[in-house]
Amino acid sequence: MNKAESQRVAHYLELLGYQATPVPWSADLVVLNTCVVRQSAEDKVLGTLGYLKGIKSYNPDLSILVTGCFVDLRIEELERCFPHVDLFFKPGAYVELLSWAREQGVTVPETVLSLPPPEHVAPTALISIIQGCDNFCSYCIVPYRRGREKSRPVMEIVREIRHLAQCGTKEVTLLGQNVNSYGHDLPAQPDLSDLLAETNDVAGLTRIRFLTSHPKDMSQRLVSAIASLDRVCEHISLPFQAGDNNILKAMRRGYTAEQYLQLVDTIRHCIPEVALSTDVIVGFPGESEGQFARTLTLLQEIRFDTVHVAAYSPRPGTIASRKYQDDVSPATKKERLNRVEALQADIAGQINSELRGKTVEVLVEGKKRGKWYGRTRSDKLVFFKSDNDCLGQLVKIAIGKTSPWALQGEVVADCTGLPTIGETSVGRDGAMLGLGLKS
Ligand code: SAM
Ligand code: SF4
Repeated sequence: MNKAESQRVAHYLELLGYQATPVPWSADLVVLNTCVVRQSAEDKVLGTLGYLKGIKSYNPDLSILVTGCFVDLRIEELERCFPHVDLFFKPGAYVELLSWAREQGVTVPETVLSLPPPEHVAPTALISIIQGCDNFCSYCIVPYRRGREKSRPVMEIVREIRHLAQCGTKEVTLLGQNVNSYGHDLPAQPDLSDLLAETNDVAGLTRIRFLTSHPKDMSQRLVSAIASLDRVCEHISLPFQAGDNNILKAMRRGYTAEQYLQLVDTIRHCIPEVALSTDVIVGFPGESEGQFARTLTLLQEIRFDTVHVAAYSPRPGTIASRKYQDDVSPATKKERLNRVEALQADIAGQINSELRGKTVEVLVEGKKRGKWYGRTRSDKLVFFKSDNDCLGQLVKIAIGKTSPWALQGEVVADCTGLPTIGETSVGRDGAMLGLGLKS
């Protein structure tokens, strides 16, 4: 979400005539987009604000703007604490950014917020479709900082995606803190499957993703839509957070471990090739060794493709920080986090090794250290070498080496569409359906 918002800020600033620079000390303007979901992220914000204060003491003309979840309702207090910051604006409050620019004497066209993105777009794009969250999980600061859920109208989103596709974008990721509750606040109450169906018809687009889904909002209608819409990738991000029912209840997640398992069964029944990713918190207040073991059991039972694990971080103002003591020691949290990571590395290593010798379809996103990289529909990161310009192309790659985190392979059909080492047809899940040497 922050990445999507940073891109949008950069886009508006470019329309106003600014150019990006990789070095803050040569900038006229620095926009700091912040995350405070865990204390460590907030500490980083404070550290960066101190660093920028140092730069400003050498260059008093530097303007510093701060946005993201660090900016809450206490803007006056923030202004008092950080007088070197020129503007605090809440996430998505681009009107305030533009008013500030106007005050600085920058010419700001009236239409700037509705101007389409630049013609040279990346192959993949992040599109925010619903802001905020209504859930109030007991540990989470997001609803306090980003407010209640607010969906963008279907046609506004589709128009944006159509424009991006016309400019060359091949894949969009629809974003929301709780993306699968999309639409309930709109007059016609469309849901995410309606939006996916509309997006699926956009000419030129080859892939659609969405994240993050809440288990309690994962409807059968949505699962069926993912199964039937050909451009919607078979990849679902579905955080479960903890394997113990009492911890889930204290977290206010709204489901039990059994209900989560049942949901995964249903999803796998309808979309057999689905890749699943999840989020886990270790060391929630009161989490015993036995309760933590149930998280490990769920991980072993489900075998996710990817797991994002975090140590519980008490966030001031949240229900958990008011109600429970942060009584799991940092050392225990770290040890549990390491155990989740080790188990998941093992599982992902096995899952990925099954792709060895198979051919997958990769949408190429860029080049790093002499190798092109991109992702499969199932969100696996793949590296390969080619002398052609592959950016934005769908390339078929025969997988050679695998690790828990990425795959390496060779081009089967190159970026000009000409087969190189063979001819293949690739299934929705990337499984090889046939590979024959070209005559
Ligand atoms: N809405 C999604 C969901 O239903 O879980 C996730 C969005 S949340 C902002 C991203 C992740 O941050 C969560 O899945 C959770 O694992 C982690 N997180 C949120 N608050 C946290 C906290 N206080 N301590 C540790 N991790 C936290
Ligand atoms: Fe936070 Fe996600 Fe829970 Fe919303 S659903 S409160 S964003 S963890």
